[in-house]
Amino acid sequence: STAQIGVTGLAVMGRNLARNFARNGYTVALHNRTNARTRALVEEFGDEGNFVATESAEDFVAALERPRRLVVMVKAGEPTDAVIAEFAPLLEPGDMIIDGGNAHFADTRRREKELRERGIHFVGTGVSGGEEGALNGPSIMPGGSPESYDSLGPMLEKISAKAKNGDPCVTHIGPDGAGHYVKMVHNGIEYADMQLIGEAYQLLRDVAGRSPAEIAEIFRTWNTGRLDSYLIEITAEVLAHTDADTGKPFVDIVLDQAEQKGTGRWTVQIALDLGVPVSGIAEAVFARAVSGHAGLREASQHLAGPSPRAMGEDEAAAFADRVEQALYASKVVSYTQGFHQIAAGSEQYEWNIDLGKVAAIWRGGCIIRAAFLDRITQAYEAQPGLVSLLADKGFAEEIAAAQDDWRTVLTTAVTHGVPTPALAATLAYYDSLRAPRLPAALTQGQRDYFGAHTYHRTDRDGTFHTLWGGDRTEIDA
Ligand code: NDP
Repeated sequence: STAQIGVTGLAVMGRNLARNFARNGYTVALHNRTNARTRALVEEFGDEGNFVATESAEDFVAALERPRRLVVMVKAGEPTDAVIAEFAPLLEPGDMIIDGGNAHFADTRRREKELRERGIHFVGTGVSGGEEGALNGPSIMPGGSPESYDSLGPMLEKISAKAKNGDPCVTHIGPDGAGHYVKMVHNGIEYADMQLIGEAYQLLRDVAGRSPAEIAEIFRTWNTGRLDSYLIEITAEVLAHTDADTGKPFVDIVLDQAEQKGTGRWTVQIALDLGVPVSGIAEAVFARAVSGHAGLREASQHLAGPSPRAMGEDEAAAFADRVEQALYASKVVSYTQGFHQIAAGSEQYEWNIDLGKVAAIWRGGCIIRAAFLDRITQAYEAQPGLVSLLADKGFAEEIAAAQDDWRTVLTTAVTHGVPTPALAATLAYYDSLRAPRLPAALTQGQRDYFGAHTYHRTDRDGTFHTLWGGDRTEIDA
């Protein structure tokens, strides 16, 4: 037993994580249900470090030094349960099973509890950065017991991405499902970021009349400023790409039906359960759904739209600058909503998650890595009890400076009939929070009218009901 860590599940993610551990000097035991994958890894990359290839669960477990650290990188869902059922009986108290797959945090909570009763640490771990990140440094979000982090943390810190200031992009998120929960919200925010970028692109194209190549240049410029991020960078690459077959812009030959694997949907489902308004993320998930309803879209081609006048060149250039302001403001709001969801989950499940640390470990390695996350980290570090990112003076001032353009972009989008669900939903959220009075008072009145659901008054304590069907006097409920 010489290996400090083992990886079972050697598809793209597991294989690259195993290589990352080995390149960092760890001896890595390898296992995969289908042995051919294990052999292929050793054949192709065996010279990158010390690997111990094994072909049975027993040999795999025997190859690991104690306490054992066993990374599971298999397809999320039933395969994870199957692998746990196979390995857990071979483990001893104090050993660790690290699930790096995209598990639902509720499954992680269940698995952690079952294994804890047997003395085994179950470390549900979010891993972001795709296959490239797994190899060269992902952002890592481990949950589980503090003891397991004492043993694993230094190894994860070594293989993780590093922020610009050298900080490792990993921290102990919290007990049981906390790591997978945070990974889920990360993916939700990623959906919103992608959708907002998509809406900005469509506006530049349909309203400002820019070509994909021109928009790529605009995004490249934005990427040197406050929007500096991995997603803006790759967006410029995709937009600048030409299809080899047709010579057309690549973006024009791709079928416009977005697919999804489920983490965005989970984020919204859980947000609904917790009552957290993540409207930017929700609209992003719905936008993918709309795009996928091919029949519905086909049947809607005859629907009337506006006939806006075309923009002049100067106006179009000014509009492009406004879109940058709108994109930034909406991005701040969608992160505000995402962090609210993390705070709400943390409270519900008593995870005690440090929001500043979450922002800090997203600065490198993951798909939403961005210069902007430094600002979020600083905001939470300076004000640990911050209720909302919008309550941070710096962000509030930036939005104050952006809001006129944000509104103009949206009125223009409406005038031109370009759908901007995420840009619009985030502005509506901002205006809802700002509003001194919301129509919720009227909602309460309606509820009291048809269902005697009662209401509270602004001027005195108590619960009241109006006798709507009778003489409309008010009674204490
Ligand atoms: P896949 O999700 O495609 O899973 C394939 C692996 O799972 C193979 O090793 C396969 O073994 C194994 N497997 C499937 N079913 C079983 C089973 N019943 N028993 C044992 N092993 C099984 O691989 P990826 O590398 O893409 O992803 C691995 C995990 O990482 C997933 O949970 C994914 O959601 C997550 N993830 C993926 C990211 C990505 O960018 N791809 C990013 C972050 C997380 P076999 O070779 O025998 O078929």
